[in-house]
Amino acid sequence: MNKRCPTCKKGELATTTSAPMPVTAVYSCGHAFGPGTEPPPDAAAARAKAEILIAEIRDALRRGVKHYAVDGRPLTTDLEIVEALRHDGEITFEPRR
Ligand SMILES: [Zn+2]
Repeated sequence: MNKRCPTCKKGELATTTSAPMPVTAVYSCGHAFGPGTEPPPDAAAARAKAEILIAEIRDALRRGVKHYAVDGRPLTTDLEIVEALRHDGEITFEPRR
């Protein structure tokens, strides 16, 4: 299993170097990490929470749960839902009128 980039989770570990090189891991996405440049644990926890939320949204979509933006617009993909949450801070399960 390839190690994934801790920032974007998309890049794969491409190169590792060892001390005294300042960069210890380079990912295929271009992100690079060295000693002290790993994202802080708080950011990692927030990202883990967001990933759980997105997984739940995808699961709900698969089960046929409908989602709507606060303006009543139907949201049909996980990306639309995440965008609506980012923009409005909330979504609804029933179209508002
Ligand atoms: Zn990356």
